[in-house]
Amino acid sequence: MRKQLIAGNWKMNKVLSEAATFMIALQAKHWPEDREVLICPPFTSLHALSKELEGSKIFLGAQNMHFKENGAFTGEVSADMLLDLGCSYVILGHSERRQVFGEDDTLIHNKVKTALKKGITPILCVGETSEERRAGDTKQIVKMQVLHGLEEVHDIEDLVIAYEPVWAIGTGENATPQQAEEVHAYIRSLIYGKYSKRVADKLRILYGGSVNPANVKELMAQEDIDGVLVGGSSLDAEKFSKLIMHDVSENSFSTENQ
Ligand code: PEP
Repeated sequence: MRKQLIAGNWKMNKVLSEAATFMIALQAKHWPEDREVLICPPFTSLHALSKELEGSKIFLGAQNMHFKENGAFTGEVSADMLLDLGCSYVILGHSERRQVFGEDDTLIHNKVKTALKKGITPILCVGETSEERRAGDTKQIVKMQVLHGLEEVHDIEDLVIAYEPVWAIGTGENATPQQAEEVHAYIRSLIYGKYSKRVADKLRILYGGSVNPANVKELMAQEDIDGVLVGGSSLDAEKFSKLIMHDVSENSFSTENQ
């Protein structure tokens, strides 16, 4: 049984006071034990939030890291620095890192290797653009990103993959549950082929791309969708907590609240 992971990616949003206010509100909420909740704020809030979250059930993660352990890398942050701040997860290869900052699969797999070596769970993001989907290349792109991202990676006991179609990120146009499930099942089959059935069965695969409280339940009902990576809808504590509670707060919201 794979434990659900509901992860919020705040991107470059929230100054410290806003981050602290959100966390106080979210900590007052309750959710079942069968799901893990993760918040990935900007680096600038990690220290304060790690103190705030001491003893809490909310996990803390980072949105990026460098693959080198230390050295002359101005502006970068290492795995040890993240561990020191209580980060359990790090998002790697997000499409914004790939597209805006030119990160390629080689850089990303170096980061994945370092994160695994250091004991931070990488959330490896993969996904096709709208042009690639229209051209029928979705599986080919995802295969390349998964297999290249995991090149020379032998042990993926602590890895999460996020399928995030680029055309669905921040657009309000989510993949249908069927579209997402098709790719998730394919990713699981790739992991089966490269590693083993046991590893594939254990791997958590998140869906990301315009997830909100109104669509999360149907997405999560798919066999191979083990959680969600959420941008916009993770910025508001009320909305995010409704999203976390997807299977028990049915009809407690309307799409007008989004
Ligand atoms: C993301 O940033 O990973 C994301 C999926 O964003 P959004 O939920 O806003 O589409």
